[in-house]
Amino acid sequence: MQRAQVVKLDRGYPLVRCDDGALVRCEHATALVKGEEVRAVIGDFVEVDVPEGHDKGIIASILPRTRAFVRKDPTERALPQVLAANFDRVFVAQPLADVNARRLERELVLAYETGALVTVVLTKADLAEDEAHVAEVRDRVRALVGPDVQTLVVSENDPASVEAVRDLVPRNTTAVLLGKSGVGKSSLVNMLVGSDIQETTPVRDDGKGRHTTVSREMVPIPGGGFMVDMPGVRGLGLWEADAGIGAAFSDVEEIAESCRFRDCRHVDEPGCAVRAAVEAGEISKERFASYRVLKQETADLRERREEARRMRGEKASDRKGGKGRARRKR
Ligand code: GDP
Ligand code: ZN
Repeated sequence: MQRAQVVKLDRGYPLVRCDDGALVRCEHATALVKGEEVRAVIGDFVEVDVPEGHDKGIIASILPRTRAFVRKDPTERALPQVLAANFDRVFVAQPLADVNARRLERELVLAYETGALVTVVLTKADLAEDEAHVAEVRDRVRALVGPDVQTLVVSENDPASVEAVRDLVPRNTTAVLLGKSGVGKSSLVNMLVGSDIQETTPVRDDGKGRHTTVSREMVPIPGGGFMVDMPGVRGLGLWEADAGIGAAFSDVEEIAESCRFRDCRHVDEPGCAVRAAVEAGEISKERFASYRVLKQETADLRERREEARRMRGEKASDRKGGKGRARRKR
């Protein structure tokens, strides 16, 4: 049995790098995946058994994750889906000339929720009209993300901008690159690596039928750590996100402390400081609307999960000695 890390996930078997450097394709031990849907994700540390005369290793266990990128499984009712594990930083990429603030807010919530460091990367800066345009967008995004988050501006034709990204992924660290298809993630990885190791996406206007690779890989960056591109992440449904929302909307939550009621929903309660701030123009209407949507989404999900738990709880109470015991196998 030896320790290894999952360094590539594609349609085939997970590729792991063992502590001795060997790369081995692996399958999951039956005991690990039986019953519950447990799968190793990119970045996971695992214990691997390579039986003699066997062409594949066997993942016997997944070690506890220090960080995880979790979204709501887009195909299931209320299940979490882990997309990556054990990284230090999340880069949230948006095209400078076409920033989608609502999507950026959601991406930031998901990024903050992981507990990793968060950096915004505004890509394709060369497509901006002029320097003033770049500065205007950068300032707008900085205002949105708050003073604690670094916002970088990068462009293909500006090697120094790419070096600023490299500096944030030092040796022995791993960063995850999040962003809509076509924002320039693969191009950025290629620039960091210095060769075209990642296939780039030809931009199509209709946004349909685009061929996106679903493979995830820890790409070693010369002079740095690892970068994980996350292609094809379409649905960004929130999972547990209260902390993430708190971080992404610290301005709103700070003002909410002054609401008359502790559990103010900022809808029609009297003495609502948040609504007053929106009316006074201190918080933009769009930002408030987006805060409400994300809050509601987590509240709905929580309710559905509690409902599911209640139903499981009823079953558990039918069993002898089931009192107070967690039924989840872990
Ligand atoms: P991904 O889907 O996020 O990986 O995006 P890609 O890296 O495949 O890039 C999408 C398109 O944007 C490609 O046609 C790239 O050539 C183009 N692109 C990427 N970076 C830049 C840039 O800095 N400037 C310009 N003008 N185009 C870029
Ligand atoms: Zn309120």
